[in-house]
Amino acid sequence: MTIWNLGSINADMVYALPHLPEPGETLAASGLQRFLGGKGANMSVAAARAGSRVSHIGAVGSDGLWARDRLIEYGVDTRHISEVDVPTGHAIIAVDAQGENLIILFQGANHAITGDQIGQALSSAVSGDLLVMQNETNAQIEAAILGRDMGLTVCYAAAPFQAEAVQVVLPHLDFLILNEVEAEQLQEATGLAPSHLPVEHVIVTFGSKGARYYQRGSDPQVFPAHKVSAVDTTGAGDTFTGYVLAGMDRGMPMAQAISQANRAAALMVTRHGTADVIPDLKEVRAAQF
Ligand code: ADP
Repeated sequence: MTIWNLGSINADMVYALPHLPEPGETLAASGLQRFLGGKGANMSVAAARAGSRVSHIGAVGSDGLWARDRLIEYGVDTRHISEVDVPTGHAIIAVDAQGENLIILFQGANHAITGDQIGQALSSAVSGDLLVMQNETNAQIEAAILGRDMGLTVCYAAAPFQAEAVQVVLPHLDFLILNEVEAEQLQEATGLAPSHLPVEHVIVTFGSKGARYYQRGSDPQVFPAHKVSAVDTTGAGDTFTGYVLAGMDRGMPMAQAISQANRAAALMVTRHGTADVIPDLKEVRAAQF
């Protein structure tokens, strides 16, 4: 089976600064590091590292070809990542000496994905494949409707949260994943608790408190988090989601897929960084906790 990921690809540009800039201030950075990022790219890398075949549907500008190459290195099929005449999505991340940060996000090419491109990519999908989306690209609704029509399992990670964006795709979803805050925001917007959402599989993640799985019509199943020394929680949710999808893709019972995702995300928070440090299945199985 294949996981089709309509997902963002970002360049995370991390500038080291003595302090965060005041309005009007010009500050020299003492260092710059560039990383592959974006929730979409992170999820593709996580699912590929978990052993699945992943085809990423997205867009980069001519300044982002390195990001596409990086995805290839991590085992992701990039044939459906188009090169467009818009700058690659990026995050300008200023970090001061205390580790405090300030982030400017530019969506760029992540919002230049066309319906034709999605249709062409999914023309080689087969019933039972997974289609995943997050809220960092355009064209989610077109993809969700097409995916449903084709008999794909349609999955959505509701981040960054926007009530309207989730509500529009909600009727077309088989699987929804949210963190604790997003679940509260969705409940405020719809009046529905996770257990009452009209989606077959709903997972809510609770950071160091683990995750809960709601299968429609059943009592929630609780998955406590592993006890680890967390040093950087960036990318934990994306790693978790990528591993759950990979488990579903390989036909694992949901509980087993979530347990493995819980292990992968716990290992991830013990590492600094994002896409480049997402653990593979061998590391997840070998982790001592
Ligand atoms: P997001 O990054 O999307 O906000 P969460 O913070 O809820 O997501 O974390 C996702 C998953 O990562 C959790 O369900 C858990 O499995 C794992 N995780 C996150 N923080 C920790 C932690 N401090 N210790 C162990 N596991 C963690």
